[in-house]
Amino acid sequence: MDAAAPLPATPAARVLVAGAGPAGMVAALELARAGIPSTVFEAGPRDGTRDNLVDIAPSTQDELSQMGLDDALAALQPVRMVTTHNAMAGIVHESDRGDALQPDASRGDASIDALLDSIRGQDPRAWGRVAIGTLEDALRGIAERDYPDLVELRFDTTVTAIGQDADTVRATVQGSDGSRQVVEGSYLVSATGGRSPLGVAAVPSGPTMEFVGARLPASRDTRTEVAREVGDGSRLTPRDQLALTIGLHGNGAVGHSMAWVQLDRPAGEVDPDALRQVVAERAAQVGLELPDADAVELVPVTVQLGGVDQAVHGRVLLVGDELQLPYFPNSTGANAGVVTARAAAMAIAAAAQGMQRGEDPSAVLAEHDARTVAGAQRLLELNRTSMDRALGAQAAVA
Ligand SMILES: Cc1cc2nc3c(=O)[nH]c(=O)nc-3n(C[C@H](O)[C@H](O)[C@H](O)COP(=O)(O)OP(=O)(O)OC[C@H]3O[C@@H](n4cnc5c(N)ncnc54)[C@H](O)[C@@H]3O)c2cc1C
Repeated sequence: MDAAAPLPATPAARVLVAGAGPAGMVAALELARAGIPSTVFEAGPRDGTRDNLVDIAPSTQDELSQMGLDDALAALQPVRMVTTHNAMAGIVHESDRGDALQPDASRGDASIDALLDSIRGQDPRAWGRVAIGTLEDALRGIAERDYPDLVELRFDTTVTAIGQDADTVRATVQGSDGSRQVVEGSYLVSATGGRSPLGVAAVPSGPTMEFVGARLPASRDTRTEVAREVGDGSRLTPRDQLALTIGLHGNGAVGHSMAWVQLDRPAGEVDPDALRQVVAERAAQVGLELPDADAVELVPVTVQLGGVDQAVHGRVLLVGDELQLPYFPNSTGANAGVVTARAAAMAIAAAAQGMQRGEDPSAVLAEHDARTVAGAQRLLELNRTSMDRALGAQAAVA
């Protein structure tokens, strides 16, 4: 079948989606392509303000292209200059790789293997870079424009609990005014980025890495930095520019988006004045002047790897960051979210089509579960290798 052709329409009952981040939106859009209506509940407002920068792998661009999401791809900017934020994984984006994005809609199906190849640097095409809010806006805009009858977006609405029986899943949703409602669906895609409202969460394992991030103001030379990195800075939104500038300055060996400083103990155990001092030192190291060190917002972050051993719980399918604890130095979360959300939507579509033929949907869901857990495990192993390497390097310096 032509990879870009829409799946055959199925009169499946409405699917509920918790969370309108990249994973939730990709799930809703892939379901819409299969003719399946969904309602997406998003705790935040329509115009979220998240500004962390995400790198989008060539394989993820292929996936977005297969889904016909050219507008989402247009939001991406090719990564041009050599950056070091993936250095822990031994990945360097080289400047001669980034002349243009080359998404290819004919390449494969939703696949963690293609993503792993991209992360390991085995795909020579350009990565894309964008503020996550810009990507979300693009995906939400496509849903509103292209699928107004199939994707219902409900912002300022939090899924507080999930219940289910053999045929139906029920979500208790709460509006920002405190009003509650119980909504029914055939399946629920849980894409909240953390603990699922079902009550399950990725299990942390292994060592932790402690960071403190400094949310820094954009520097005066934003445009120069942007132009160096993506060539044509004029296409970027102010949010992208801010994220990009912060990202550039924070591009050490320990992540980006803010000026991350790795600590040898949790930030809460370090004297606040000492914390400000290490942040100021780090800023100076990357050539950034802090206007007022006391006014800089410090964000403590503990990174610990972890995952789930079950991605399907009855009629609830976990996707995105719910499947594994995010590990931002390795920059794979949004990419994995696209892969897992798409695969979940395809599994729901296949289950619905099978039911029309009188087949039991549980076999399709069991296969999706096994494949998703195995894929998440492989990604986790890659992240673990990067973390071990980073912790080893830290020990060597000490
Ligand atoms: C500093 C930083 C840098 C990063 N860099 C990269 C990178 O370069 N590349 C990359 O691929 N990834 C990167 N990531 C990770 C990436 O941002 C996440 O992996 C990705 O956003 C996960 O997508 P998601 O849709 O699963 O969850 P999220 O993006 O967390 O979205 C979840 C959504 O659900 C909503 N929500 C939460 N609870 C509920 C509820 N109960 N009911 C309704 N809605 C709810 C939230 O408001 C949110 O909008 C980075 C992350 C950070 C913090």
